[in-house]
Amino acid sequence: MISEEEARARILEKIVPLPEQTVSLATALGCFSAQHVTARLPLPAFDNTAMDGYAVIASSCKNGQRLRVTGEQAAGPDRNLRVDHGAAVRIFTGAPIPQGADAVVMQEDVTREGGEIIVNVDVEAGDFIRRRGCDLAEGQTILAKGERIRAASVALLASQGFAESTVGGEVNAAVLSTGDELVEPGKKIGPGQIYDSNSALLHALLKRCGAVVNSIEHSRDDRESLTDAIQRGIENHVLVITGGVSVGKHDLVKEALRQGGAKIEIWRVAIKPGKPFLFGSVKQKALSPQSSQRSRSRSRTQSAREGEALPQTNSCFIFGLPGNPVSAFVTFLQFVRPAILKMMGATNLNLPHVPAALALDLTNDGDRPHYIRGRLERGKFAPFGRQESHALFGLSQSNALVRLAVGESLKADEIVDVQIWD
Ligand code: AMP
Ligand code: MG
Repeated sequence: MISEEEARARILEKIVPLPEQTVSLATALGCFSAQHVTARLPLPAFDNTAMDGYAVIASSCKNGQRLRVTGEQAAGPDRNLRVDHGAAVRIFTGAPIPQGADAVVMQEDVTREGGEIIVNVDVEAGDFIRRRGCDLAEGQTILAKGERIRAASVALLASQGFAESTVGGEVNAAVLSTGDELVEPGKKIGPGQIYDSNSALLHALLKRCGAVVNSIEHSRDDRESLTDAIQRGIENHVLVITGGVSVGKHDLVKEALRQGGAKIEIWRVAIKPGKPFLFGSVKQKALSPQSSQRSRSRSRTQSAREGEALPQTNSCFIFGLPGNPVSAFVTFLQFVRPAILKMMGATNLNLPHVPAALALDLTNDGDRPHYIRGRLERGKFAPFGRQESHALFGLSQSNALVRLAVGESLKADEIVDVQIWD
């Protein structure tokens, strides 16, 4: 059995980022930028008005001043108007500031009388003008390499005139749940049987990471079915198997993997829940067209690498997670998620984490680090529900994890690092 830290390091050592791709901004959402991107335009790109009103010269504009309205400038093409002393130009939000003007008076602060206005406020130079470059300067970094592209990042790229973004590769994944007791949700259940909830869980977790789930299969606990299902699953970048990785007579995954030519790199990690965790890899053929067909890549402009030998795509990484739902969840977040993010080109592989006060004392007298599930609310973390690896309800009500190292004893109100997930 190896430590959790060693397991994570050994997994990440094996994983190589997938080749980058240039995609539309809509497709780039949730991906990781493969480039360091700098602003090619300042924001705003030109001085413009923040309000509907009148462009004026502040020094010739006292409270009570009467001004002639000499023109109108809407948001849109610059009409190259000029404002002279004693005059004003009608102007609308986003419109370029006419030459000579150095302030805008809001329309609510003037009285309009035919072709004239009376200014009802004191005006200072700069009022309601959004200066060129005040938000963003040309050359400033707008996206770091490896940063996740979020809704606002997409907007920022668009504001720079970029229609596409170069992002890390797309991870194709397969889920394989194993166990004779499992029944697919929607079907009739018999005595001793349970519904397969891990397939739904892992599908959701993979999607949340940004992976494309190409197949979800179930296999009974027999060598032949397992071997067949594994052969199909390894046509992806990642195969996540649940159940059958422990030491029981019916835990046949390891054997089936070996038979299929996989190399088991890690089996059993000092982590609670999740000890039987397995990691392996297998050389596979290039991705078949069927397996990539349902993926986002249809809408992608594959970078000029088609047909080239891609070292990254000829290995499938296999994660064997314990069947207990909470163990599958915790090991996914601690080992599978960082691996997938690395493949996608992310820089930050950690879960989001925040400091929070403990609601009560917590001690770990076990021999493995323990991930406690609980609720993080208003800066306080409280364990929730049963802390056992089958306790799916407690997990479903939780939004955070606290890791207790071996022998660690924490007191109520102590500030701890709390991991959260999206
Ligand atoms: P295993 O790791 O196969 O020994 O399974 C450990 C426990 O997890 C057993 O109680 C299984 O019934 C349960 N389990 C295994 N696979 C699933 C699954 N896909 N969904 C829900 N529970 C499961
Ligand atoms: Mg089983």
